[in-house]
Amino acid sequence: RRRLLAEQKGKPTVTKNGKAIKLFANIGSVSDLQSVMENDAAGIGLFRSEFLYLESDTYPTEEEQFKAYKMVAETMAGKKVIIRTLDIGADKQVDYFELDKEENPAMGLRAIRICLTRPEIFKTQLRALLRASAFGNIAVMYPMIISVEEVRKIKAIMEEVKAELDEAGIPYGNVEQGIMIETPAAVILSDLLAKEVDFFSIGTNDLTQYTLAIDRQNAKLDEFYNPHHEAVLRMIQMVVENAHKAGIWAGICGELGADLELTDRFMEMGVDELSVSPTFIYPVRQKIREYDGETK
Ligand code: PEP
Ligand code: MG
Repeated sequence: RRRLLAEQKGKPTVTKNGKAIKLFANIGSVSDLQSVMENDAAGIGLFRSEFLYLESDTYPTEEEQFKAYKMVAETMAGKKVIIRTLDIGADKQVDYFELDKEENPAMGLRAIRICLTRPEIFKTQLRALLRASAFGNIAVMYPMIISVEEVRKIKAIMEEVKAELDEAGIPYGNVEQGIMIETPAAVILSDLLAKEVDFFSIGTNDLTQYTLAIDRQNAKLDEFYNPHHEAVLRMIQMVVENAHKAGIWAGICGELGADLELTDRFMEMGVDELSVSPTFIYPVRQKIREYDGETK
């Protein structure tokens, strides 16, 4: 590991034929930032904002959220920070949301569905995030998308929040909007969705769960769970192709992105970004720098 660090630190993440890959880090709280810096991430590809809600006994205020996002944006000093909006429900329950018990929480009221049914909570987060964007390079991405209509609704809410900030004279930056591709519906519609957003980030943890109908939490299903399932790999290929046709980039922020057995395959498919746990950055960079095949 020490050798890898010496070899890879500060090196550009580029394939032999010259394609630059965005090699970003996944973080789950502000305390992960040190590891992001030590491991030389080019940005943050997935900032799981749930920690703000999980750590607290009640809804985190706009100010609390603003401070956390601003801190991350400033620490990253101009490098991209992609904040994923609230993804609770399913495996992540927060009492004060008072969500009903569900038979099938993974298929229930989670993530963007909560945000769209409780727009005030969503708007508070968007306001905090926009305000923080004045202090760095912040982008936003939305989880568990299944339709174009949903994305249009979200963008309309974003416009409302911007109008409110404009009215109050509060500055914000140019915040790119992307979506997570983590449902089969989003994969199938990725040609249309690509026309609506600035980037795609493939959430292979959920995409695998929903494609193979295998609960990601259930260890008893391990013998049926194949993370390299060809169905999932074909979906990734399709998403990247549709992204490129529309002129946007596509990355992977699920665990599969750090799977070194697949790095070559991802390069061949034309994946533009990989967002991985900070400790995987150097091993993945090494793989990418050694890749000498074609890219798209
Ligand atoms: C995913 O589903 O692959 C993902 C990155 O999001 P999470 O693991 O937080 O659901
Ligand atoms: Mg997910």
